[in-house]
Amino acid sequence: MLIGVPKEIKNHEYRVGLTPAGARELASRGHQVLVERDAGAGIGLANEAYESAGAQIVDSAAEVYGRADMVIKVKEPQPAECAMLRPGQVLYAYLHLAPDPEQTRALLASGCTAIAYETVTDDRGGLPLLAPMSEVAGRMSIQAGAHALEKAQGGSGVLLGGVPGVKPAEVMVIGGGTVGLHAARMAMGLGAHVTLLDRSLDRLRYIDELYGDRLTTIYSNHDAITDRLPYTDLVIGAVLIPGAAAPKLVARAQLKLMRPGSVLVDVAIDQGGCFETSRPTTHQEPTYEVDGIIHYCVANMPGGVARTSTFALTNATLPHALALADKGAVQALADDVNLRNGLNVHAGRLTYRAVAEGLNLPF
Ligand code: NAD
Repeated sequence: MLIGVPKEIKNHEYRVGLTPAGARELASRGHQVLVERDAGAGIGLANEAYESAGAQIVDSAAEVYGRADMVIKVKEPQPAECAMLRPGQVLYAYLHLAPDPEQTRALLASGCTAIAYETVTDDRGGLPLLAPMSEVAGRMSIQAGAHALEKAQGGSGVLLGGVPGVKPAEVMVIGGGTVGLHAARMAMGLGAHVTLLDRSLDRLRYIDELYGDRLTTIYSNHDAITDRLPYTDLVIGAVLIPGAAAPKLVARAQLKLMRPGSVLVDVAIDQGGCFETSRPTTHQEPTYEVDGIIHYCVANMPGGVARTSTFALTNATLPHALALADKGAVQALADDVNLRNGLNVHAGRLTYRAVAEGLNLPF
């Protein structure tokens, strides 16, 4: 199969859909790989690295889209990219079609077969191509929070780990899923004292088994959160209610309970945010202050560590890419229900019920 990897064109997107190691695996199985010039340049993946892995570097996105049987990328195709897709071509990428009728219409019109990373499942009902980005965001949330606590950033001037003779910071992680677990792990690694709250007792049991008395687990409710705000230095918002907007767990009126310069990191901002005072920010201007409390609400945190994120993402996407290339899309989709769950658009039809219902389009 001829596999094409375009350079991402979304603003400040430096990730790439395939690494040189992935290109080598595809090439070693007899597939041809085309990579747009400088597709990985922003994260130190040079054209020569792809070439020595057996890929061919081409100069334009038009050539990638024009020749490839399957296009592997990261972000949803922009209008100019949708216009280059053609009937029968496979697109393998994050799509997030439900809130995006324009892209959905363009993909339907193209006649392509579009597989969305975010709806591919695993045998335990998880979303394995989303999980790596939650791992990245969870770990990064502590790094971002630690930085925001510094005085020059408007923070209270607290060091997460303390030092001998000075107590460590208090970190409250609300939500103990993938983001929350990785945030807690990172905060403990830096020596902070961590309290993790969730509404799933099974999840609290699991985390208690993992870490024992190195962290405190608490059942999440309004009172539990409110009680802790006065002495918490850093709060990580990491909740998710699938298919719903994030619940608002800290109201504006509660901010005055916190010490000035304390920090809220709202990882759930991509679902509307779990603090009343959250609004989306960017890597260029990641924080703002409300009532003396610093807020960090970057909606695409993994983009800030694009190199790590690329390896994390492609570790998860490559096995399906290999199956699609080896067997062809029809057979690969027929053989694997988890991959089939990723199929969102095929030959001008929507094939994912929730997207069709959300956009009021035929399924
Ligand atoms: P997850 O499903 O693995 O975990 C969510 C957890 O929240 C679950 O354990 C659930 O029981 C818990 N929860 C639900 N309501 C709660 C409440 N009221 N109090 C405490 N816990 C509650 O989800 P995840 O992968 O960890 O993702 C968490 C959020 O982070 C999602 O909104 C996701 O979209 C977002 N996210 C954002 C970025 C970013 O760049 N900003 C990146 C990755 C993920």
